Amino acid sequence: MFAVLLVPGLLAAAPRKGNSRPTYVSLGEWARANVFSVHWLERDKTVELTGRGSRLVFNVESRSDARRAQINGVQVRLACPILYQNGRTLISQIDLSETIGPILSPPSNPRGFNVRTICLDAGHGGTDPGYQVGSHDEKKYTLLFAQEVRAQLKAAGFNVVMTRTTDVKVPLEERTAIARKAGADLFVCLHFNAIPNDKEVQGTEVYCLTPAGAYSFNSGGEGDTRWVTGNRNDEKNMLLAYQMQKSYGKNLGFEDRGVRRARYQVLREATMPAILIESGYMSNPAEGKKIFDATYRKQMAKAVVDGIQAYKKITRGSRETESSKATE
Ligand SMILES: [Zn+2]
Repeated sequence: MFAVLLVPGLLAAAPRKGNSRPTYVSLGEWARANVFSVHWLERDKTVELTGRGSRLVFNVESRSDARRAQINGVQVRLACPILYQNGRTLISQIDLSETIGPILSPPSNPRGFNVRTICLDAGHGGTDPGYQVGSHDEKKYTLLFAQEVRAQLKAAGFNVVMTRTTDVKVPLEERTAIARKAGADLFVCLHFNAIPNDKEVQGTEVYCLTPAGAYSFNSGGEGDTRWVTGNRNDEKNMLLAYQMQKSYGKNLGFEDRGVRRARYQVLREATMPAILIESGYMSNPAEGKKIFDATYRKQMAKAVVDGIQAYKKITRGSRETESSKATE
């Protein structure tokens, strides 16, 4: 476990509005208490922590960059920016307990519990096409992708529940209800991304629910930061998102756009650990070509299955950590 230090007298970040102000602690003191060495990669801009077989990199340069972190080579957007005040680097308590904690010191399931049933949620459907790029509707490819992931998960011995198997619109609240009624252990939403009139942006983003008290990525300071149902699984949500992002990097070499937080309805209402994968940009010609290709979707599906397998292994109760794996 990681020691968490509360340093009195440090200024908290001041969100524009919200229900609570995040508490900040000294990154240096936290690092020392947890036997990490601290080095500036770039003075007053980028700081590196190494120890326990792990490497963490944080940006303190500016507020727009100060949520970008790298944990053992995987990009992770912090819930709150890193602050730099009077020569001290400060990190939020939320990120220590809900971002870094679950990755470096993963939660485990009770003995005897195994991840068996996966609910796959193919995004959009019916009258909701999702993104449209040329003649390609996102809803078509999320379903084809989900069907491929289902086949591979079944071959690996998992039970699979689908929120839709045809081109129909399923209300968001029904999607999480299907997962709950089926007793699903994990909820995995599959989407593809697009930016109209932008062919450059590419890569994978894996979302999990924003912790209470923090703002979502690109929310523009959303008003409601209260605890919701999905927050009961904050640690496992993050661990699953992290393992999925890592698996995408390993399997596909897609640009790593980072684990991110959002309060999407399906993530808010899920009663089991849940993530939403934006599995590449349809609007990027090279990446779109792959998404529309059945052979490539098999490779993407393998990345999803590997991510789920990694999560299953880590939470099995063996207390295996990222650090211990890195030093094997
Ligand atoms: Zn979508």
